[in-house]
Amino acid sequence: MQPQIVLLKEGTDTSQGKPQLISNINACQSIVDAVRTTLGPRGMDKLIVNAQGKATISNDGATIMKLLDIVHPAAKTLVDIAKSQDAEVGDGTTSVVLLAGEFLKQVKPFVEEGVHPRIVIKAIRKALQLCMEKINEMAVRIEKQSKEEQRALLEKCAATAMSSKLIHQQKDFFAKIVVDAVLSLDELLPLNMIGIKKVAGGSLEESQLVSGVAFKKTFSYAGFEMAPKSYENCKIALLNIELELKAERDNAEIRVDNVKEYQKVVDAEWQILYNKLAKIHESGANVVLSKLPIGDVATQYFADRNMFCAGRVPDEDLKRTMKACGGAVMTTANDIKANVLGLCERFEERQVGGDRFNLFQGCPNAKTSTLILRGGAEQFLEETERSLHDAIMIVRRTIKHDSVVAGGGAIEMELSKVLRDYSRTIAGKEQLLIAAIAKGLEIIPRQLCDNAGFDATNILNKLRQKHAQGGQWFGVDITKEDISDNFEQCVWEPSIIKINALTAAAEAACMILSVDETIKSPKAGEPPMAGGGGMGMGRGMGRPM
Ligand code: ADP
Ligand code: MG
Repeated sequence: MQPQIVLLKEGTDTSQGKPQLISNINACQSIVDAVRTTLGPRGMDKLIVNAQGKATISNDGATIMKLLDIVHPAAKTLVDIAKSQDAEVGDGTTSVVLLAGEFLKQVKPFVEEGVHPRIVIKAIRKALQLCMEKINEMAVRIEKQSKEEQRALLEKCAATAMSSKLIHQQKDFFAKIVVDAVLSLDELLPLNMIGIKKVAGGSLEESQLVSGVAFKKTFSYAGFEMAPKSYENCKIALLNIELELKAERDNAEIRVDNVKEYQKVVDAEWQILYNKLAKIHESGANVVLSKLPIGDVATQYFADRNMFCAGRVPDEDLKRTMKACGGAVMTTANDIKANVLGLCERFEERQVGGDRFNLFQGCPNAKTSTLILRGGAEQFLEETERSLHDAIMIVRRTIKHDSVVAGGGAIEMELSKVLRDYSRTIAGKEQLLIAAIAKGLEIIPRQLCDNAGFDATNILNKLRQKHAQGGQWFGVDITKEDISDNFEQCVWEPSIIKINALTAAAEAACMILSVDETIKSPKAGEPPMAGGGGMGMGRGMGRPM
């Protein structure tokens, strides 16, 4: 026997060539199958339970992909594009996964027959370029002249984004709130200036938008009841200081031999606290917020001086208050002066459902608002939050790039037509490949029909015919089981979603096609599985080695 040349560490798993490519494509297909049914207004939701037993119900592609805990290395690409779509534009996360999967599925027969992946990749790139040109040419720019028109446009885009979610029945109600929230921001439209708070109980329609910062009342000590609960023109001290008597005897050992000495230690502790409190009081603040606990002594002290205080304020809320009201978060009580205090016109503590909320309104520095969501179960509220996040992102995107296209598969059908027309003008393998991508684009309208229980073949035939006759905005009509001009039906989506989704999907497909070998190193510390499994099991089964 010839000695074996060991190139890679024992246990390294390699697979290469065409079978590897095909197996990667198949892996992606199974992922696509997992999210396929969630697309569109009639899509279904997924209930995912993680290892800790926490259940999540979601319709959002990115959320589902994140929770799926995918281990296949190539298939992880799809998770990444869903995440990047979520971060870039916020919506279209299911579409992007579906498109990437479908592109791969359509070109798979060519790969199997031996077309070189590079040729396939070139064709995909060409198709993508044609699609981009067409979208930019077709997208309808909306004039920014009148405020009302812009508002109406934004509300429609928000409503389309929410029409596929659990809250689709309240989409008009939420579309208004979302648009209000985004329009209340300043020009840069920073996302983190919209706070979303969830209060279980009540109905969805009781959700409200508060202009300003709001957060749940924090845990408070006795003495709190006496503090006033509303101020006009108030000054806010933002602290990162613990205002509590520390039991130092836990941390240090002090030896004293008489009661007087002991009393001195106790007095000193109190004095330290009182000094801090006095400095805060002298600064002129009415409201004291601290990231760290504010104990009962401090609470009483403030209440006696008509000041309001809240300890253990969550970090993000404290930061948002700082951005909105100005001031700075102080870590020592020594330099608290008037110039580090935040300002706001109105502060109040108000009851919302079963919870009390601290509300800061009329903040001079930054424009901010807080959505207080009401509704049943917690999982439901979480999904509502995710859906609103999509809608908020869409509205922000639409304000920045004010051009829209029609959804419901209309734009995909038109792009598909353009590609098919183009493919007829060229010859060779590329013709077939471009036609395959054109077919791939039809997945969106097809899936929308399938998910609604419509006869997809029939509707797609009608759509192809309409688009051939120049009806460029015709797409699936979800309510009538037919086709309709989705631009007139106001199923509008910002063109940036489609541009981003197609680019990401094409790139992912190309990336998966360009991989022909996977080399997997054995995990550190794991015993190498020698010779196909048989031996590795020996020990566990109690057999002698
Ligand atoms: P994604 O995560 O990709 O946004 P969705 O489940 O939100 O997935 O579905 C979006 C798809 O549903 C888009 O193709 C959009 O055009 C389509 N859609 C949304 N509202 C409607 C509607 N009223 N009629 C037809 N199609 C719609
Ligand atoms: Mg969506």
